[in-house]
Amino acid sequence: MNIHRLKYKNIKSLTHSRVHYLWAINELNEKKGHARATDVASLLGVSRSAVSIALVHLKSMKLVVENLPAHTLKLTLLGKKQLSNIDNNFLILLRFFKSFLKLDDETATKQACLIEHLLLEEVAKKINQMMDTPKMCFIEETNGSDPESRKKLKENLYG
Ligand SMILES: [Zn+2]
Repeated sequence: MNIHRLKYKNIKSLTHSRVHYLWAINELNEKKGHARATDVASLLGVSRSAVSIALVHLKSMKLVVENLPAHTLKLTLLGKKQLSNIDNNFLILLRFFKSFLKLDDETATKQACLIEHLLLEEVAKKINQMMDTPKMCFIEETNGSDPESRKKLKENLYG
């Protein structure tokens, strides 16, 4: 076993599906003004018991609170921050997959959705910076365009 990996084994992170619970709770609060477990279940197309299990974890991670007696769910400040970082990661990854890897919409969206919550903040920043450097932008924008800029592109790459 790779010894370097041992020290990361206890990192508590969200799972892909729990990110969707955060998203659903936030969405319901914004659109309906409140979020109950039943609403979350129907929005995500999952069972009530699946929601209950997810809520135990999200509450223990201090991302969600349940207000009694109404049993309405809200994201905590930390939950909101996490979700906004994840949304940000999603956009960065989507752009990277579409513009640089040339993945189709469906594949790019699916892949971004699957790993959006796993990206470290500093890595997301680096990917974003890399995409915004003039050289990378040049490649991105001139890809497949007129012969003159293709020639410039080649000079840019090999010159
Ligand atoms: Zn997802």
